Amino acid sequence: SSRSSSKAAMQRGRMRLSLQEHLWAFYHERVNISSEEQQAARHAALDICAELRAFIHTKVPDMPLRDMYLSGSLYHDLQVVSADHAQLMVPLILEKSLWSFVPGEETIMNVPGFWLVRRENLEYFPRGGSYWDRCLIGGYLSPKSVLEVFEKLVTGCINWPAIGSVLGYTVRPAIPSHTEGLTLSLEVQYDSERRLHIDFLPLLVSEDAVSLIAKPHRERENLWRQSFWSAETTRLQALDRDDDGCRCVCLKIAKAVCKLNPALTPLNASHLANAVLLLSESERNWSHEVLAERFTQLIRVLVGHLEAGRLPCAFNHKVNLLCELTPREVDELGYTLYCSLSDPESLLRT
Ligand code: GDP
Repeated sequence: SSRSSSKAAMQRGRMRLSLQEHLWAFYHERVNISSEEQQAARHAALDICAELRAFIHTKVPDMPLRDMYLSGSLYHDLQVVSADHAQLMVPLILEKSLWSFVPGEETIMNVPGFWLVRRENLEYFPRGGSYWDRCLIGGYLSPKSVLEVFEKLVTGCINWPAIGSVLGYTVRPAIPSHTEGLTLSLEVQYDSERRLHIDFLPLLVSEDAVSLIAKPHRERENLWRQSFWSAETTRLQALDRDDDGCRCVCLKIAKAVCKLNPALTPLNASHLANAVLLLSESERNWSHEVLAERFTQLIRVLVGHLEAGRLPCAFNHKVNLLCELTPREVDELGYTLYCSLSDPESLLRT
């Protein structure tokens, strides 16, 4: 009957309204970081970056690097819950004639989104002709080995207690977590209750502007990871700017949910950002009033991708962003999110 169906519609409306309210409350109370806290974290990061830059220039003046710079969600108001990490980008300079970039799908490993960096012209410019030859493994520049060079410098040669006491911080090299794989990072305690992790991220930029970061593939340590980070961030923010949309709010809520819920931590910013971008291709309306609808849709879309075992990168559909997760992780993520669909609010009770 029409009466009961309109009653059901009203009930659904009320549920939607309350999810909408819950999402905004969660966003303001848990997700969003005050600008004061962001400022303080950026300030500490900048101090450490200056020290490192000076130290590396003095200690290894012949190391071919472009200027290091700070980057990450902290600089685009996309960080969530607490201002606790930033990336220090360290661009390496490679001689054009001595190195070439080989896309992962053209290698025997066939992994789109990853690259090999091959040493060329060894006959004319033998090993040692390039500074970065010290990081060659089997004829290829190894991201792992590059990270180790920085690790030796950063953990072995710098007097962090002395620098820290001058800056008023406690600084120590951080123990890499197993889920993060191979990383080099510094832990900076810059306030009695505030800590910042600064990750070192060596990076290469090819002539065609492909940018590769030394964050090796989970199993194939010789592969460099192509970074779509700038493209993702720029596009999301541009789309929101054009229509005053809520894509970034939706993304930040999803990031916070994954950060606060241990069962969901394998989903990272890139998974979520690309899912939002893919959803933006089919959904045009992202006004603030439809946040709850888009958020629920985002969860549903993620469940679908997890069930299919494929989440394409919005900038290159050949890249499967789930390719490093184990089938078991994919199953468990899919199951957790699937269960939340009947009660999306449960995701906010953390
Ligand atoms: P969040 O760390 O979850 O807040 O999300 P981010 O958007 O800051 O993502 C940071 C992750 O993206 C880092 O762990 C990096 O390894 C990776 N990444 C890939 N390319 C880049 C890049 O160009 N800049 C930065 N900052 N991170 C990148």
